[in-house]
Amino acid sequence: MSVLGRCLGVRRERQLQRALRNGRLTLICLVLTVVVLRGTIGAGRFGTPEKDLHDLRRLLHRQQHLPHRALAEQHRDASFLADDADDPPRDPSAPYSLGPQISDWDQQRADWLRRHPDRPSFVSPSKPRVLLVTGSSPEPCANPVGDYFLLKFIKNKIDYCRVHGLEIFYNMASFDAQMAGFWAKLPLIRSLLLSHPEVEFLWWMDSDAMFTDMVFELPWERYGPYNLVMHGWEEMVYDEHNWIGLNTGSFLLRNCQWSLDLLDAWAPMGPKGETRIEAGKVLTAYLKDRPVFEADDQSAMVYLLATQRERWGDKVHLENGYYLHGYWGILVDRFEEMIQNDRPGLGDHRWPLVTHFVGCKPCGKFGDYSVERCFKQMDRAFNFGDNQILQMYGFTHKSLNSRSVKRIRNETDNPLDLKDDLGLLHPEFRAATKVTQS
Ligand code: UDP
Ligand code: MN
Repeated sequence: MSVLGRCLGVRRERQLQRALRNGRLTLICLVLTVVVLRGTIGAGRFGTPEKDLHDLRRLLHRQQHLPHRALAEQHRDASFLADDADDPPRDPSAPYSLGPQISDWDQQRADWLRRHPDRPSFVSPSKPRVLLVTGSSPEPCANPVGDYFLLKFIKNKIDYCRVHGLEIFYNMASFDAQMAGFWAKLPLIRSLLLSHPEVEFLWWMDSDAMFTDMVFELPWERYGPYNLVMHGWEEMVYDEHNWIGLNTGSFLLRNCQWSLDLLDAWAPMGPKGETRIEAGKVLTAYLKDRPVFEADDQSAMVYLLATQRERWGDKVHLENGYYLHGYWGILVDRFEEMIQNDRPGLGDHRWPLVTHFVGCKPCGKFGDYSVERCFKQMDRAFNFGDNQILQMYGFTHKSLNSRSVKRIRNETDNPLDLKDDLGLLHPEFRAATKVTQS
């Protein structure tokens, strides 16, 4: 029994404690009322300085939004979103399949095209109908700024596709839980080929690759004999077996049976877990300079071509006449020099078509390069490409390092007389689409 209890008796002590508790509650209510009144009625009456009131309002506002902020934090926590727990574990000894075996795709597709003359697979005699496909993980980026860069990467691709009359698809769904990460493109590509017989070429492009030449049109006529076009070098792939002899971050795949067969031959190293880990060891042992890590789609492609050249080689074109993929490390410091000496439309080292931020992992936690360097250079590459878009509307970025823009010409009341220097406003490669479709 307490001292108070000894003086007042137990019953009185309880009564007193209850009264004190109630009093505390009343006091808290009173303080809150004053705080709210100060925020709503205004500071004048209470003599609160303007800044004080402002701070108070901000505090209240912040508290109001706390639940949202907490939600946002949770949203960034991958475990909150990991909803593939229901997928049954795969038996690694069972052969992996991308889908039901199809062996007469060329016939099925030809029949469909005959029945749909309004959806030709060529938009002009030399220009195939092309679907550019890209995508990113269903989850938000580990680093929130990564989502902002993904937006820039997709804005850049939309611009190129609009100017060149290409269709575009952005995927954020996992079509096959086994093929998560860099392997996700395989089941996606197969689904799209089968659903879009009207598409002649599918152009896969990684989320971390962007167009730095908005003018360059692919040399389609060169690709007639080929079904797969990747940036790379024959000697590095077939002789050296070098794991960077080609790049799978930007490639063209023709919609045909050969490509379905290739996807089937490419996929077996992809299923995550034991299969992918074991396959990684095979790849590292076989390929030149490959570090030790799980099987990736690029190494698997080099391995497939190097070990089965007779089966695939004659339909594969390794392009190095221009940058279908260009490694950012050797390009981004030369942008100013390119602007000085050359003009868009070349696509090669003088004005690269694609700048690919290999190893930067804009959306992930760990990349091979510093985040600051990657983000800075991504901004520069974006502005470099964006200047070619903005020039149509009379603007340019103040510098490659600046997000803000300035006018490059006076406004006029005769807008249709303006010269479109790069010819991107009404380009011929887009006009071709209209002619054939009408
Ligand atoms: N990708 C995807 N879904 C995923 C993970 C990756 O579509 O869940 C795509 C994305 O476009 C990415 C590409 O696959 O650029 C290659 O994946 P990788 O992990 O190699 O990313 P990168 O090195 O290109 O950042
Ligand atoms: Mn990439």
